[in-house]
Amino acid sequence: MNTSLHLDVAIFGGGIAGLWLLNRLRQRGYRAALFESDRLGAGQTRYSQGIIHGGTKYALTGKVSDAAKMVAAMPARWRACLAGEGELDLRAARLLSDHQYLWSTRDIASRLAGFFASRLMRSRMTPLQAADYPALFRDTAFRGQVYRLDEPVLDVASLLAALAEPVREATVAFDPEALPLEAGEPWLIRLPKVTFAARRLVLAAGGGNRGLLAKLGRERPAMQLRPLQMVALRGDLPDLWAHCLGASSKPRLTITTHRDAAGRPVWYLGGQLAEEGVGRSAAEQIAAAQAELAALFPWHDFGACEWITLPVDRAEVQAGGALPDDAFVEEDAGVITVWPTKLALAPEVAGRIEILLEAGGIAPGGEQPADALRRLPRPEIAPLPWQEEERWN
Ligand SMILES: Cc1cc2nc3c(=O)[nH]c(=O)nc-3n(C[C@H](O)[C@H](O)[C@H](O)COP(=O)(O)OP(=O)(O)OC[C@H]3O[C@@H](n4cnc5c(N)ncnc54)[C@H](O)[C@@H]3O)c2cc1C
Repeated sequence: MNTSLHLDVAIFGGGIAGLWLLNRLRQRGYRAALFESDRLGAGQTRYSQGIIHGGTKYALTGKVSDAAKMVAAMPARWRACLAGEGELDLRAARLLSDHQYLWSTRDIASRLAGFFASRLMRSRMTPLQAADYPALFRDTAFRGQVYRLDEPVLDVASLLAALAEPVREATVAFDPEALPLEAGEPWLIRLPKVTFAARRLVLAAGGGNRGLLAKLGRERPAMQLRPLQMVALRGDLPDLWAHCLGASSKPRLTITTHRDAAGRPVWYLGGQLAEEGVGRSAAEQIAAAQAELAALFPWHDFGACEWITLPVDRAEVQAGGALPDDAFVEEDAGVITVWPTKLALAPEVAGRIEILLEAGGIAPGGEQPADALRRLPRPEIAPLPWQEEERWN
């Protein structure tokens, strides 16, 4: 027999945006469920570097817009959650580092004077004395300046688990071949044994939003994909979470340190290297990464490391190919489409959706469809890419 269940909100996509929102809505008593076609975190979220940005990028471009001020509030908002005192309880998520470093090489230090003088940056960046540099920079051959940046970095695997655990029973796996979504009022999600009727639909499927919108006969909002070719290396590597400042407004290189499945240190490399590496073969991109590390740390031997590339697309609202300034949340005739732009902006995205629901007269309070939900298949949590051993072979 096919059961029919009413939802206030059906969320498509279990990355950071969908999971954060599901937690918030369920906590507030909304009847909400999340539908995932792969594994939780399987899109961009598991590829992210886990940095909870606080606006460095904006200060680098010299812009202190409203979007920049909002981003500046994110580290504190996340820290409250990590301490169990925020809008969600993320005490089970692991902090990799509570700060990062920024460093400039000698040749560009003078060009960055304006940036270091900006008020936004002064409030969160501390120039360090050589004795306080992270170990890798304490070599006498290092010429440049290191700053400490007060923005945390999270272990995304434990973050996904911390977000998935409290809402497990409200996450539903479905066969991506048979996208079970029908336009209407309410929106219908027809699964083999259960049909859901939802008052609002939230599309939080990252790169999958385009297909979901098409299924609803919509072409807007338009999405852009920005490809990246990230690099990971493992071996005898010191812990480091740091951005090398280049001459442009984007970091030349961003290094974050993680662990592979066996607990070995992995450096994950992003920044300009990943953007400029898109047209390169894997071998060319690895050679470019090796050359970059040799140029920046000539005193360190990376010769015994293993290297892989991790190509991945960023999915965002159409912004002419550039990184949008802000998170995107837009409602159109009962469908709310989101691209958070950054992992760090997930709380902001959820907050804006809560406001839209209230404005649309969707209030919490109905009975939770717990029993029927419990009988449906649950999506697993995706591993982090560098924890998939087969990628290293
Ligand atoms: C290499 C890289 C590094 C990054 N580093 C950082 C960082 O350090 N800090 C930061 O703040 N941001 C970072 N970002 C950005 C951040 O990762 C993304 O903005 C964020 O993860 C997007 O989350 P999302 O939930 O919107 O989408 P996604 O994480 O892409 O999740 C989408 C989910 O929807 C599912 N899905 C797809 N199609 C469908 C469908 N039809 N039906 C149902 N489900 C579907 C997918 O399987 C997936 O689970 C990085 C991004 C990349 C690519």
